[in-house]
Amino acid sequence: MAKFIISASEAESMAKSRGITVPQLLPSLVKSAQALARTPISDFHVGAVGLSSNGRIFFGCNVEFPGLPLHHSIHAEQFLITNVAAHGGGPKLLHMAVSAAPCGHCRQFLQEVRGVSDIQIVITDQPLENPDYKPISSILPDPFGPYDLLDQETPLVLEKHNNQLLLKEDVSKVINGHSELVIKNIENLKTEALAAARESHAPYSGCPSGVALMDCEGKVYKGSYVESAAYNPSLMPVQAALVAYMVAGNGGYERIVAAVLAETEGAMVRQEATARLMLNHISPKCELRVVHCVQFD
Ligand SMILES: [Zn+2]
Repeated sequence: MAKFIISASEAESMAKSRGITVPQLLPSLVKSAQALARTPISDFHVGAVGLSSNGRIFFGCNVEFPGLPLHHSIHAEQFLITNVAAHGGGPKLLHMAVSAAPCGHCRQFLQEVRGVSDIQIVITDQPLENPDYKPISSILPDPFGPYDLLDQETPLVLEKHNNQLLLKEDVSKVINGHSELVIKNIENLKTEALAAARESHAPYSGCPSGVALMDCEGKVYKGSYVESAAYNPSLMPVQAALVAYMVAGNGGYERIVAAVLAETEGAMVRQEATARLMLNHISPKCELRVVHCVQFD
């Protein structure tokens, strides 16, 4: 995890030792973030480094999946936001440094963060001396975003979500021929998937969801669905869980042996088919189980 997160005290001392501020430090870390990218299709490494309101530094990189359609790719900025959200980065991202100009998809995705216009961004494929920060609003004028569809009180990404969900039923009874490890951990996986669904950001469809993955050592990684007001840049819960997996250990996907998706039955927006497709592809022996939730008031 150390590779993807730098503690506030460590960030302070790194900056101090170089006689610069923490925001000035960010551009120098972008290359380390780029080195974490998994880009078998493009070989184009993108790194994104963000400073959160609690002083920690988070890394993001792009991730591509050969054999699947390109829209399964995780962009560095999406990885960064997911990393901040999953590891208690606080409700704000103050500064970010990215290796290349953010694509339109990511400029849109970032709109889900409250106060995004004021996030200061620097693009480092320009000269590194005196990083030139500018507000996100300068790279996406006239944005379409959450406030076009939601009221001000609806929580946004990085803010606390607690979707009112309970598991509809215990579907683990239909297990057949799974390893003991999976059976031993299934309750925990279901609990984590439900927790991820509760934390998911799905104010546009009202269809929250979450995924928990388990590796061959029984470690569990969860990811919450993140919707975009513009729909298509949304990040699927299985992608968010893969971010958690990479942040924790950077192992191969084939080490993922079980997954649980929690979503509401019959929802307008369902993740099951695409989660199955993606997991089958990257880790064929991983079994995906779906648990259905019911919303309560
Ligand atoms: Zn992008």
